[in-house]
Amino acid sequence: MTGKVWLVGAGPGDIGLLTIKGRQVLEQAEVVVYDALVSEEILTLIPQTAKAIFAGKRSGKHYLKQEETNELLWQEAEKGKRVVRLKGGDPFVFGRGGEEIEALLAHNIPFEVVPGITSAFAVPAYNGIPVTHRDFCGSVHIITGHRQAEKNSIDYGALVKSGGTLIFLMGFAALKEIRTGLLQGGMEPDTPTAVLEKGTTARQRRIVGALSDIEELCEREKIGTPAIIVVGEVCGLAEQFSWYEKLPLAGVRILVTRPVQSGSVLSEMLREKGAQVLELPAISIEPVSDDTALCERFQTLQNGGYNWLVFTSPNGVNIFFQKLLQYADIRALAGVKAAVIGEASEKALLKYGIKADFKPSVYDGETLGRELALLCNPGERLLIPRAAVGNPELICELQKKEGLVIEDLPIYDTVYHNSSILDEKELIENGAVDFVTFTSASTVKGFTAVTGDTDYSKLRAVCIGRQTAAEAKKHGMQIWTAERATLESLTDCLIRAAEETRRKQ
Ligand code: SAH
Repeated sequence: MTGKVWLVGAGPGDIGLLTIKGRQVLEQAEVVVYDALVSEEILTLIPQTAKAIFAGKRSGKHYLKQEETNELLWQEAEKGKRVVRLKGGDPFVFGRGGEEIEALLAHNIPFEVVPGITSAFAVPAYNGIPVTHRDFCGSVHIITGHRQAEKNSIDYGALVKSGGTLIFLMGFAALKEIRTGLLQGGMEPDTPTAVLEKGTTARQRRIVGALSDIEELCEREKIGTPAIIVVGEVCGLAEQFSWYEKLPLAGVRILVTRPVQSGSVLSEMLREKGAQVLELPAISIEPVSDDTALCERFQTLQNGGYNWLVFTSPNGVNIFFQKLLQYADIRALAGVKAAVIGEASEKALLKYGIKADFKPSVYDGETLGRELALLCNPGERLLIPRAAVGNPELICELQKKEGLVIEDLPIYDTVYHNSSILDEKELIENGAVDFVTFTSASTVKGFTAVTGDTDYSKLRAVCIGRQTAAEAKKHGMQIWTAERATLESLTDCLIRAAEETRRKQ
């Protein structure tokens, strides 16, 4: 059976600007053909099982010619695959989407188009420039500044006459020609003009000035690509309307390492504060394959053999209950008290209808162990279902109390996978990442295992607690530690770290 091709617009960079439909289609893709302008955050959404093919242009080198891309699309679809052609911005705004559709039609391949948010509108918006405003203009024009496409074909006189906002894509290399053309076409030299680099990302920069000196300003600030040029009175509003840079984590790129199931909570919190968040490396939580020990414990539970169940992560809670329902049911827990390490585990437990009986004053393994030991009577039995590589301090503290029976039961492994598309090592070493968050010592271990022999000395690690920080320190990272072991406190810590770093620069 023939597959299908979806032409999907990835938007200008910010992962939040990918459409819901775009994301759904992407998550079901079997083959993804993507361009250079698709942001790294969006690339992390490509399923691990999908074949990802880079079709863009990097450092002047085309990886695939347009004809080769066209061919790849219909050939993969003919094999029966769900193919996503992922393009920066909108597929039809200077995106050659039309040419790809012609090729698909020629081979009778079914297709759909998922429009994207074009950089032409989103990048000005993230810089406080409304592309139209009733007081200033009655139209907006999107023009390619690409030299080959242009070949003197732009009627600058007509553009100037329109009185509309002019937006040039692919025009940065031709900034001089564009400026000259507009001036010759009769535009006032002091017309407000903006050059907007890497819009909607943490690295976005804006230059606003008069048309006549825009080139010089860009040279002075060493503006680079991708960039769009906006010419028109609306550019004068940028200073007053700008909002992105006012967010507390604007301009900050954060790598979040955290088991996928709970990763997005922290990422969303950080994005809300304006950060650009990359979720890497991919992590999966894998229940241990042999359930024999677990089944025995369920039996003991049913026979009233334990006084306490101790949970040290939401993953532990979820996997424990999945397994419990597979072999027994919730009645096995009648009369058993539950202790949790912190708020996230407490919430996870509540989902199964159980209120935690105990939560320590500081959310770490050591405090949990020490305080819980005080509550327990000699002879009480504790079951601790948790990660295969669990924190030893918890057990150590519990063992200090005589007469407790402690059973440490590994129920899952955290497995870290290298990204097949992004190079984590390169991202860290070339400064593309400002901060990395770690929510447990095991996330540090997993992260460093995946990134190999990377130089971590420039990496700023924001850690949830002491043990996590100690692990990160071993690798020579610069450390910040949250005051409390909660995601809120971690976010506050990041804001402080970002401020300190900004002050030093
Ligand atoms: N289809 C895309 C445009 C492709 S042409 C869209 O709808 O956005 C490529 C040009 O888009 C670049 O040369 C640059 O001018 C612009 N562009 C794309 N993303 C950008 C970004 N994040 N910041 C600034 N310009 C961007």
